[in-house]
Amino acid sequence: MAAKYEASCCPLCSSLDIAPFFEDKRRAYIRCCDCKLVFVPKCYWLNRADEKAVYDLHENDAQDQGYRQFLSRLSRPLLERLEPKQKGLDFGCGPDPTLSCLLEEQGHQIDLYDPLYFNNSSVFSKHYDFICSTEVVEHLHNPNEDWNTLFKMLKQDGWLGIMTKLVADKQAFSRWHYIHDMTHICFYSRETFDYLAQRFNVEPIFVAKDVILFRK
Ligand SMILES: [Zn+2]
Repeated sequence: MAAKYEASCCPLCSSLDIAPFFEDKRRAYIRCCDCKLVFVPKCYWLNRADEKAVYDLHENDAQDQGYRQFLSRLSRPLLERLEPKQKGLDFGCGPDPTLSCLLEEQGHQIDLYDPLYFNNSSVFSKHYDFICSTEVVEHLHNPNEDWNTLFKMLKQDGWLGIMTKLVADKQAFSRWHYIHDMTHICFYSRETFDYLAQRFNVEPIFVAKDVILFRK
């Protein structure tokens, strides 16, 4: 499988300093030596239709208490920091938006965006007091552009809340269930979030193992 892929630079920071990190039966994984993003070269990506078939399988239900509990690990620390009645965006909300319900129940107003299920491009010309994105950034085809967009839509002093599982080391990576989802193509480490913080001049707060808040 070696050398089947072509990856010339890091899709997040554009560094040319990239190196093979791991291979399994299905895919190769490359790591950026600068921002420490681990990424899957394009030749291993699913096509859009197959990707959507995987997303359609995610049976997340806005009334499911377990799922609400899972999302509250992001909503709780975010809500603690928000002023009342703020305007937010759920970026990559999926087919059955649930985080937005948790936040709206607390008096905030939320726009929804998802390229497959709520393709409402008007959000890109708006500005938000807060943006949340749960289990989304690991799916991004163009992380460089998408992170730019997220921070551009965020107002000064606004909050960006992210949920994604973080890369530990190579040994843990090789046994990681997270890489078995073929729609997961970007894997962030703590250093990647430090890189993003520096790039966008924001402060990262690691509130849980897989929950990160940025203050603009
Ligand atoms: Zn990089």
